[in-house]
Amino acid sequence: MAHKKLFIPGPVDVRPDVLAAMATPMMGHRSKDASALQRAISEKLQQVFQTREQILLSTSSGSGLMEGSIRSFTQKGVAVFSVGAFGKRWYEMAVQNGKTADLFEVPQGQHTTAAVVEAALATGKYDTFTVTHNETSSGVMNPVAEIAAVRRRYPDVLWLMDAVSSMGGTPIAVDELGVDCCITSSQKALALPPGLAACSVTKRAIERGRTVKERGFYFDMVQLYDFIFKKDYQYPSTPTLSHMFALNLQLDLMLSVGLEAYWKRHEDNMKLTREWAAKHFRLLVEEPYASRTVTVVHNTREINISDLNKALGERGYQIANGYGDLKDKTFRIAHMGWRTREELEGLFGHMEEILGLK
Ligand SMILES: *Cc1c(COP(=O)(O)O)cnc(C)c1O
Repeated sequence: MAHKKLFIPGPVDVRPDVLAAMATPMMGHRSKDASALQRAISEKLQQVFQTREQILLSTSSGSGLMEGSIRSFTQKGVAVFSVGAFGKRWYEMAVQNGKTADLFEVPQGQHTTAAVVEAALATGKYDTFTVTHNETSSGVMNPVAEIAAVRRRYPDVLWLMDAVSSMGGTPIAVDELGVDCCITSSQKALALPPGLAACSVTKRAIERGRTVKERGFYFDMVQLYDFIFKKDYQYPSTPTLSHMFALNLQLDLMLSVGLEAYWKRHEDNMKLTREWAAKHFRLLVEEPYASRTVTVVHNTREINISDLNKALGERGYQIANGYGDLKDKTFRIAHMGWRTREELEGLFGHMEEILGLK
């Protein structure tokens, strides 16, 4: 299979040295070395998440921690603020886990407003709420600082946040915002293969969790948390050590270029992509709500997107069709991980040739 350069919103391309770290020989998952590895990763992830709270790793994709957190931390009811397909996933998870849940939706391309959050929390019906930081189906990045400001009036309502497609790619000040559980996956801006998820979790969330019955087993957030202290950063089940070797290296590389620089490259690539898309098509989302990691483009020329992707594939590139209802009406260009300006310019050049744009 010839490799295609991936401009899809996960999985993204992994650096060869990071990929090679996946092949590190195994060690015992109850060894001192395993504890040291997992502690090192947690401390580095605390920098990425801008948090002093505990980091939990999970051998699953990000959805596992989304389900685990909504199940472990919701007692009374959860308000789900959705701006697209991944926001709605929280609602389905809540319902499937027997939680009382209300879904607050917006039209495609719109964001969650602080006013809507305020009105919902003021009812007193909820002890948990969920927000999607970066909705990968619509390319919306929510105004979380504004949401944080109204949420400060409701400190007892726990804030769960899906930052799966943005953590690492843009600054998210978890502690400053007051997010109780912020979740991400390995295969997006952290630029690792899929199969590992990570989250931050506050003590306040864990204390609530202790009062919640039937938290499940594998994704019981309280059990995961307690194990860190009981067994020196180890995990109840055998974790994906291969990902952890790779993550440790990836974090070293990110920290050595500097998080500011890593974030800025995403921002610059977003601007470049939006400029190109606005010239030839139309953007779905207006600033300041545009995602830093994925740009969603209105298919105003009504091109056949699967044909376009076939032609791009022959040239060694791949973009993403629209997601769910937005399939064929939009297409998506991801600019996550180590993707460079030159690589994006290469993609745009091929798209212009194939579509006869210029
Ligand atoms: C990819 C994605 C998910 C799902 O993550 P998995 O790691 O595939 O479980 C959830 N939310 C958002 C915003 C995503 O982009």
